[in-house]
Amino acid sequence: MHIVIEFKHVSKTYENGTNALRDVSITIEDGEFVFIVGSSGAGKSTFLKIIMREQVPNSGSVIINNYDLNKIKKRDIPKFRRTMGIVFQDFRLIPNMTVYDNVAFAMRVIGAKEKDIRKRVPYVLSLVGLTSKARQLPTQLSGGEQQRVALARALVNNAGIIIADEPTGNIDPEMSYEIVDLLNHINANGTTVVMVTHEHELVRRFNHRVITISQGEVVSDTGVKQEETANEPVEETVYYETQAELKEAVEQELQEQVDQMREEVISSLLELDEEDNTSPSFYAQPNSDKELEDFMKSYGVEDTEISPEEVIASLEEKMIGGDAQ
Ligand code: ADP
Repeated sequence: MHIVIEFKHVSKTYENGTNALRDVSITIEDGEFVFIVGSSGAGKSTFLKIIMREQVPNSGSVIINNYDLNKIKKRDIPKFRRTMGIVFQDFRLIPNMTVYDNVAFAMRVIGAKEKDIRKRVPYVLSLVGLTSKARQLPTQLSGGEQQRVALARALVNNAGIIIADEPTGNIDPEMSYEIVDLLNHINANGTTVVMVTHEHELVRRFNHRVITISQGEVVSDTGVKQEETANEPVEETVYYETQAELKEAVEQELQEQVDQMREEVISSLLELDEEDNTSPSFYAQPNSDKELEDFMKSYGVEDTEISPEEVIASLEEKMIGGDAQ
């Protein structure tokens, strides 16, 4: 794994004497999803501002996407910032531009060709579910939709890291979940996500690394989650239009569960046979009456007229305390 964000003994004191960060050391690897939590005034925004090079620490070193921020030249800062997509609590959309142009604008400022913009913007808008709103103005959208436009804008230049500063702070809980779910999908495709929030309920619903900052210090860090969702498909939330569709989906789910249980029973029986290699496999198809008879005998059954229930009962007995133990 490649480290994309590294803080080494970083401290930040503002001019008025406030110690916003004290000796913070953190590494974040490529593909991680990290929540930064902490109460108001804890130092979360300062942490993000240092990542974005909007603030400079008093001591310590910061390396982001291979840029050493102690050494970066002023003229390289815009290029450095392009390696990140940023989402703010208050969306920061341009009010007199359509959804399409708000997203296209992020490509235009870096000198992308119109041909590429025409291809890329509709694709990114489709990722955030806003294809049908492309010609609307931000004021014609809900808070959740505006935040999705901001997310599309953060994604459009293929940034490797998405920095989200309280992205759900101005939207209702249902929409908040959708925004984090979207970030989750983006992360599952390989993008590193660092999200500041104070919404504990949201953090609980997603199984990601949580770094807690209190009075400028990192007081807890759940660490890199090995089973992180990166590279794994994320489960989609599916909505059903009619009762019939829902019923069909439930029936299918139940059937899948039954099939899975059946497979588990079969494989446990096969394992039993492996341990007890004196008896032929229960699931081997007998090729003759003689084989069937031998098979039955191996389970202590002499009468080939015996019912399947009795064979199963005899097998169960074997599993519980019989020869195979
Ligand atoms: P959070 O994002 O967790 O609410 P901040 O990083 O914004 O915390 O602030 C941490 C501390 O630094 C607070 O005490 C805040 O008042 C102070 N602070 C933040 N920005 C400035 C600034 N520009 N000048 C002086 N003090 C600041």
